[in-house]
Amino acid sequence: MDVVIIGGGITGTVLTHLLAMRSVHVTLVDAGLQKPRYPLIHSKLLRFHEDITLSKISEEVYLELSRKLGIKVLQPMDSITVIPSECYSDTAKLINLWHEAGARVKVINDIGKYGLKKAANNEVYILSSDGDNLVNYVQLMRRIRKYNNVRYVEGKARVNVSNDSVEVVVNDRTLHGDYYIITAGAWNSTVARDAGLRVPLLPYKCQAAAFLSRRINYILYDYVLDIYMRPLGSTMDHVLGLSGLSIVVGGDGNSKTTEPGKEEGVDREFLNEVSSKVMSRLGNAFLIGSRFGYCEVTPDMRPAVGTLDLSNLVFMGGFDGYGAEVGPALALALTEYLFNGSWPGYAKPYLIDRFGNNWPSTWDISTEAHELCV
Ligand SMILES: Cc1cc2nc3c(=O)[nH]c(=O)nc-3n(C[C@H](O)[C@H](O)[C@H](O)COP(=O)(O)OP(=O)(O)OC[C@H]3O[C@@H](n4cnc5c(N)ncnc54)[C@H](O)[C@@H]3O)c2cc1C
Repeated sequence: MDVVIIGGGITGTVLTHLLAMRSVHVTLVDAGLQKPRYPLIHSKLLRFHEDITLSKISEEVYLELSRKLGIKVLQPMDSITVIPSECYSDTAKLINLWHEAGARVKVINDIGKYGLKKAANNEVYILSSDGDNLVNYVQLMRRIRKYNNVRYVEGKARVNVSNDSVEVVVNDRTLHGDYYIITAGAWNSTVARDAGLRVPLLPYKCQAAAFLSRRINYILYDYVLDIYMRPLGSTMDHVLGLSGLSIVVGGDGNSKTTEPGKEEGVDREFLNEVSSKVMSRLGNAFLIGSRFGYCEVTPDMRPAVGTLDLSNLVFMGGFDGYGAEVGPALALALTEYLFNGSWPGYAKPYLIDRFGNNWPSTWDISTEAHELCV
């Protein structure tokens, strides 16, 4: 089987590994528009039952890749979730699902011993082990180049759909395959529009900031301040940790709808807000860097996968801020579709057909699907 994949980001990378390991010939086209420079969070502590299932399957995919590639893809992390007490009864229902997914979770009284300060009255603290990881995407992306059956093409692909057939053109060359997969992240809507196809997607800018602060060795999901924090996840963590310091990456769920490339740079208001929130939890913290990229959402804020017009033109996207958490499971589902012609049960709630042809031209993207306490 020959498969052409457009987009070698988070999901295109995992899909390429899964197909290459099953002896498929893959042509992976990537335009080099964005790549993670540090590990990304994978968490099973999500809000929707179906997402938790995907996240558990994604963890199994990462473990399979670790075994087969001989690299450590996952770095397990503890996490602390801070919620306002009024959201505890909703969260308690989720805790059972998190347990079933393998997380060990308990409510703790005090976060002082983790170096965190109380920010408001009526906070509840949930400590979790085996619920979260940092994922080494930098390594996973590098290893793509080692397969004999993967051709890596640098360039911007264009999809042409005509007379019931598909072709992909990149650098003035036409690429042929049995299947064509579009996994171009926030550029999916542009690729689809240029091909005369409609997809229910809205691109937006997502941002993060890095701080030098006191050492933390866990992920913090803070639904009181609406922010997350995590260690960088690089070899620097160990070296800095010896002096009681960390590089901490933080962000919030705020998102600004924009076409990729239109709004460059990290917003000053974002940096001010995140800095003050990080300091109210950690004390002194010095802003040392920031990053922006582009993400995308569907109208119900959850990913979508499925065929577009033709049975050999497949789409996977709409991962907002949690592609590393649920993306690999849908990449596995897509692999099963290519081999068997049908989608496994866990992928069915995510099929793109659920939107039909009837979706709004724009929608509110204030809360991402992985965030709690809505
Ligand atoms: C700063 C930041 C931090 C984040 N942290 C996390 C995290 O910790 N955990 C998490 O789960 N998620 C995180 N996210 C969100 C995550 O990055 C997205 O959910 C994920 O990247 C979506 O995966 P994707 O494969 O759909 O798109 P992407 O990873 O964006 O990949 C799209 C790829 O398509 C390529 N492309 C685009 N157009 C074309 C074209 N025409 N031809 C060829 N190639 C093309 C691009 O070059 C890119 O490589 C973060 C995002 C940002 C910006």
